[in-house]
Amino acid sequence: MAPRLAIKVDVDTLEGFRKGVPALIKVLADHAVKASFFLALGPDHSGRAIFRIFRQRGFLEKMWRTRAPALYSFKTMCYGTLLPGPKIGAAAPHLAPQLAAAGHEVGLHGYDHVRWHDHLYNLSPEKVAREIDRAQATYTALMGKPAYSFAAPGWQCSLSSRTLLGARNFLYGSDTRGAAPYLPAFGDTVTKVLEIPTTLPTLDELLGFHGCRPQDFTNLVLSRLESGLPQVLTIHAEMEGGPFLGDFARLLSRCRGRRVEFFRLEDWARELLRNPDILPKAQVNSQRLPGRAGHVSCQGPQEARSS
Ligand SMILES: [Zn+2]
Repeated sequence: MAPRLAIKVDVDTLEGFRKGVPALIKVLADHAVKASFFLALGPDHSGRAIFRIFRQRGFLEKMWRTRAPALYSFKTMCYGTLLPGPKIGAAAPHLAPQLAAAGHEVGLHGYDHVRWHDHLYNLSPEKVAREIDRAQATYTALMGKPAYSFAAPGWQCSLSSRTLLGARNFLYGSDTRGAAPYLPAFGDTVTKVLEIPTTLPTLDELLGFHGCRPQDFTNLVLSRLESGLPQVLTIHAEMEGGPFLGDFARLLSRCRGRRVEFFRLEDWARELLRNPDILPKAQVNSQRLPGRAGHVSCQGPQEARSS
């Protein structure tokens, strides 16, 4: 069977949306790849992320290793601090419909990316609902219909965020890091919405670690595809749609050379949901990952289904 790979594109900032998304649309079209894009549609408060330097072990090291100042303009680094945060979706209303017209999946990556990433566990269920509802209202205004997929900013999810995905009728979420699709459990509570985790590390996590170059990262992706299991690679509009666009194009070319089949997450979700009774369940654990500052939500060991 051909190796299978989904490209999940997280768009966190206005710069990533305005510049990275059009660049990625072109590169993906050149390689005949349909991807799954997840857009943060509310205010760009990237400047506030700078304060993670004081809170999160490994953040400064990661900024240095990934050459963050080259990724983000000075203006982006001031949004939400010295400058007000511009609303991402409204600033380029043509781009989300353009993605859909090109055949890509378009889902939500939250409203205020920095607020969700840094404060999800301190937000009341009402405030989590407000983040999702504001993102959904902006999406509906842009696309004329609501989104049915959600990817949590910073791979941060909780019982209340997953419960809300169910209450708001999302088809699936892609909020965690893990090995294969599952139903997320938090203690004794098994939530109802299918989770399709990111299975591969990201370029920004590995770049510069032990001398890892973009071509070494590509080799790692190709070797993981040999496992025969479908893989999900998350890229960022600010990275692979920016200074690492050429490296991403080379990754796609090498995948094409190996006859990798690309798929969109929503198509896989619909396929999996034809037999929802056989979906495994697993706990969601908060863990540290190599190269990533702070903790992320990760798939725990598979648990037996009670029904
Ligand atoms: Zn993000």
